Amino acid sequence: MNTLHMSINAVDQLQPKAFFMARIPSEKYLYSLTRAEAKHIVRRARNFQNHGPRLIESKAMQSASSTPVLRVALPLPLRQLFDYLPSANGPRQLAGQRVLVPFGRRKMVGVIAELANGSDLPPDKLARVIDYPDGEQTVLTGEVLELLQWCWRYYKHAPGEVVFSALPPKLRNISGSIPTSPLQYRLTPAGRTRLQEPAGRVKAQLGLLGHIGTGVATESQLRSSAPAWRKTLAKLLEQQWVVSEDQQPAVLMPTPGPVLLDEQRHAVDAIVASQGGFHCHLLDGITGSGKTEVYLKTLEQILEKGGQALLLVPEIGLTPQLVRRFEERLGFAPLVTHSGLSEGQRLQAWALARSGLARLVIGTRSALFLPMPDLRMIILDEEHDASFKQQDGFRYSSRDVAVKRAAERDIPVVLGTATPSLETFSNAASGRYSWHRLRRRATGAAEPRWRVLDLIQQNMTAGISAVAMAAIGETLVKGEQALIFLNRRGYAPVLLCHACGWHGACERCDTNLTWHKANRRLLCHHCDSVVPVPVMCPACGADALQGAGEGTEQLEQVLGKAFADTPLLRFDRDSVSRKGEFERLAGQVKAGESCLLVGTQMLAKGHHFPRVTLVVIVNLDQALYSADFRALERMGQLMVQVAGRAGRDQLPGEVILQTHYPQHESLLTLLKSGYEAFAGEICADRRAACLPPFSYQALLRADAYQKDEVRRFLDQAKQCFPAGEALIYGPFPAMMERRSGRTRWYLLVQANRRSALHRQLDEWMLRLQKLASVRKVRWSVDVDPQDY
Ligand code: ADP
Ligand code: ZN
Ligand code: ZN
Repeated sequence: MNTLHMSINAVDQLQPKAFFMARIPSEKYLYSLTRAEAKHIVRRARNFQNHGPRLIESKAMQSASSTPVLRVALPLPLRQLFDYLPSANGPRQLAGQRVLVPFGRRKMVGVIAELANGSDLPPDKLARVIDYPDGEQTVLTGEVLELLQWCWRYYKHAPGEVVFSALPPKLRNISGSIPTSPLQYRLTPAGRTRLQEPAGRVKAQLGLLGHIGTGVATESQLRSSAPAWRKTLAKLLEQQWVVSEDQQPAVLMPTPGPVLLDEQRHAVDAIVASQGGFHCHLLDGITGSGKTEVYLKTLEQILEKGGQALLLVPEIGLTPQLVRRFEERLGFAPLVTHSGLSEGQRLQAWALARSGLARLVIGTRSALFLPMPDLRMIILDEEHDASFKQQDGFRYSSRDVAVKRAAERDIPVVLGTATPSLETFSNAASGRYSWHRLRRRATGAAEPRWRVLDLIQQNMTAGISAVAMAAIGETLVKGEQALIFLNRRGYAPVLLCHACGWHGACERCDTNLTWHKANRRLLCHHCDSVVPVPVMCPACGADALQGAGEGTEQLEQVLGKAFADTPLLRFDRDSVSRKGEFERLAGQVKAGESCLLVGTQMLAKGHHFPRVTLVVIVNLDQALYSADFRALERMGQLMVQVAGRAGRDQLPGEVILQTHYPQHESLLTLLKSGYEAFAGEICADRRAACLPPFSYQALLRADAYQKDEVRRFLDQAKQCFPAGEALIYGPFPAMMERRSGRTRWYLLVQANRRSALHRQLDEWMLRLQKLASVRKVRWSVDVDPQDY
């Protein structure tokens, strides 16, 4: 088991939502599963463009003699659509409309995914739609529906689950409805006159009038003005001091930023020039090179003529500072969406995107499927970030789907990062993507200096060498800040008995329990199991329990003692769990007082801490010799990102890397020649080994409480894998074979051509559903897997 690999994905893996149970529905619900699916697959093989919803609609119109049939996506874990007849006197049917349909004894909300002429089932076997909750309005624009269709075909996931993941939660059931178009408010001449006069007894009303002032105010602007704004507003409308009108899209009022450097200007020019067609740009810029400035200038020019843009950021990168920077520079407030919003807010955000009123949406992964009728550009910041891959349920890569969306819409897409993923790197290297390099820090700050510390024969305290300790001391004496990076939270990764060798292991997973000393618990970072810390060894009774290795909690304690006069801030998921806590701590760091920062990868991203001049990377060695072929790539990315925190301003920075392998070849390349050379080298290794991105993979994952059942299913699944170019390997145990009490194994399918892989996978899906052993396991398909 490789710690680095786990910690990168730990955020996604900690609360695994159940994969779906692949159950076969009872006879009654079986709308000829296999034939319907077969038809589906045949159609898939044709060019995707040929069966977007528009075309299906027109096909449906062609022959009046055949029966119009609605192919409906229902939120079920089944890889099929369900055929229904339109109701006798409903509105005009369109793909993307919500419908209420009978399903067995229940009623369910579904979405029309396709319109067809006839079904595999005879008409008298088909049920009718009960209702159209939104009348003629659609909840999915044609474009989003096309994208979702591509997704369920490409990722081999149940269409209904894919479609419903794109709907705001409130629209997933019948009680929710599409919000009316939002209003804005303007003073009438009478209102203006009233505002000049003394307030008298209507202070609140005049306050709100003043708030609207000479311009217009939207509801969301008024909401922040006073708690009882709705009541007051009603009075203003009643007196006719204010009129309401449909909200207008925000107007761009850019404030000029710094004059762009040549490298930046070339990138902006190229991106802007590629408008009007699909083009993929890699903005490959070191930390602090001014990538965000490039986004801002490009947005300014692209949005000048109207339209919308989408900026996707990793979960951890969506900070108020970032949003404020865009607002200040563009002159309007971007719409911000993420999964932490309330259901009401998510519906509101969805409606604003759909109406075109939101000119710029900044959001995490889930914003990717927002309807944006006038979308003109997509930007994905930190494209290499693991949080862009959805790791359970409908597993998809936001980066790849974003590129797909841009291709469908014929618009540019910008992938920004200091450390391109190898997929993007090889696309840029082969010339498919334009490659824009920013190699200097925009503020003129020098890049940090690396110092590699061979840990052999070093004097260590809690994992920190005496040399690093001294460097920390010097930094603090100068009144500057030092950042200590260790990607492992807790006090120690394992608690063990020095008398008998017992160690705390999770009963439900193949992993050790992490010792959280302050909370006196042993905690599993994979299934959240908690055990109190034993006082004596549970096996031999000796008083000989000790931690082995170290985590951020221990570093905090040790460094806190060693540098007792300096404030120490710890950044990890245990210490920064409350909302706003990260911002508070970050604010304290930015205030500039000398301090120590100790933290996990939470510190590696996006933050500009001008007074950090020393970064100590405590330990990344596991990645150098990991079984996971992506571990090295991730290590390089993490190292460069963490190092990028040092010396971002006027003060020069230094990075100390502690390692037992200072002679490791890839490490040497990274340090001597930089990330591009490093990526080039591992790219060549991958090509030689026929590994992604030079081959295409998919996994069939299965898990169950009984190992036998997993093995039986996967053995049978392997037997029925169709012959062809793509080859099947396994079954293999997952990197963590047992998690939450379930045994997890997988089959690996790999091909040199994507088309071959998909042809065989599609065929295989049909066969898998018929296996008897399928009922006994949870299984799922992971196309382009990132972890194993
Ligand atoms: P990145 O997104 O690549 O980390 P930023 O766009 O945040 O970089 O820029 C880093 C710092 O450099 C910011 O403080 C920004 O205001 C400044 N900056 C960016 N471009 C320029 C420029 N052309 N001239 C001067 N300062 C710049
Ligand atoms: Zn013992
Ligand atoms: Zn566990």
